[in-house]
Amino acid sequence: MFTLLAIMRGLLAFAALFVAVLGKETFEGHQVLRIVAKDDVQLSLIKDLEDMVEFELDFWRGVTDVVTPVDIRVPFHSLQTVKIYLETQSIEYSIMIEDLQTMLDDEQEEMESAARDAQPRNTDSYDYGRYHPINEIYNFQDMLVAENPNLVSKIVIGQSYEGRPLNVLKFSTGGTNRPAIWIDTGIHSREWVTQASGQWFAKKIVTDYGRDPTLTAILNKMDIFLEIVTNPDGYYYTHNNNRMWRKTRKPNSGSSCVGVDPNRNWDAGFGGPGASGRPCSETYRGPRANSESEVKSIVDFVKSHGNIKAFISIHSYSQMLLYPYGYTRTPVRDQAELHNLAKKAITDLASLYGTRYRYGSIINTIYQASGGTIDWTYNQGIKYSYTFELRDTGHYGFILPPNQIIPTAQETWLALMAIMDHTYKNPY
Ligand SMILES: [Zn+2]
Repeated sequence: MFTLLAIMRGLLAFAALFVAVLGKETFEGHQVLRIVAKDDVQLSLIKDLEDMVEFELDFWRGVTDVVTPVDIRVPFHSLQTVKIYLETQSIEYSIMIEDLQTMLDDEQEEMESAARDAQPRNTDSYDYGRYHPINEIYNFQDMLVAENPNLVSKIVIGQSYEGRPLNVLKFSTGGTNRPAIWIDTGIHSREWVTQASGQWFAKKIVTDYGRDPTLTAILNKMDIFLEIVTNPDGYYYTHNNNRMWRKTRKPNSGSSCVGVDPNRNWDAGFGGPGASGRPCSETYRGPRANSESEVKSIVDFVKSHGNIKAFISIHSYSQMLLYPYGYTRTPVRDQAELHNLAKKAITDLASLYGTRYRYGSIINTIYQASGGTIDWTYNQGIKYSYTFELRDTGHYGFILPPNQIIPTAQETWLALMAIMDHTYKNPY
């Protein structure tokens, strides 16, 4: 028995080692600092941090302007140096998240307790107030299609780098190639409230069709396409390896860093300011436009469809509703209309829980960003091109607690309805 015990101990030790090597990346002692510049000199000093690669900083909210805070995840090993850097320059900062790993542990505990429940057998018993792993989202989509065969179908527009299907739900009451509305969530994989909201939107559409007159009128004339897991490899990776993963999972030749920022990879101002040429950067644009199949598949779909009238790409966080452009200061031709519609949409959104959004063009509201999704769609002639940044404004950031999923989805839906209804009533 003694030897058996010894062997078992050995096996346990081996298992522990295995988990340490192949397990999840942890974030013990990582803090998220909120930094506010008081003038342009300080702003550029903060911007300089982007190039200090050895600190391994992760900009949750990038540098915008003097009034807008910058949120940076700072690994434990860089914390003292970064704080001293800021203090030396008299740059004000506060600690938004004291220890990231503690928040991730709480999130994980909720997910594990949910996983112990029986799997739902239909979309009525599906728990929309939880974060779900990718296989559960795929099952959800299939259940929704099976339950609503006359309204919902699933289209596979391509596959991810790792071979996962790029599923799009099509909501249609008939006709051929009707004018359409596109909505995507989760192109940045760590923005979990977006994929979770996408599932709620899907259920909302089938529930409200035939009941809500506005949505019914829209769906009697137009189709809605909804891609919930737009970056499936990244999403899988956030659940199993690194919760903070944002990019795709395609390796980069000549670099040990993996992935491309799929919101810098579109053929609109590609390679310009506001995207990085370094593969290790979180905003790496990729070797060329459309190099990522997750992007290229949407490009091909939009072009072959040819009749998409509104394109809405959903991100988090910071509570903003944005329209093009990001890559140039030249205002879009439809600036006034897009601006007024954004105002209407965020007013409707705020009517539910009082959540306040900022709005405007990308370059004027956040920062210059090139190769972005909606700049490309706008240039393709899709006038109603918008990007959302959902809750919150940084208290939890990407680790938004699950009890905020449904309220976030509910309020966002009001804004989506405003945009969809306007699109329906203003054919072009
Ligand atoms: Zn994003």
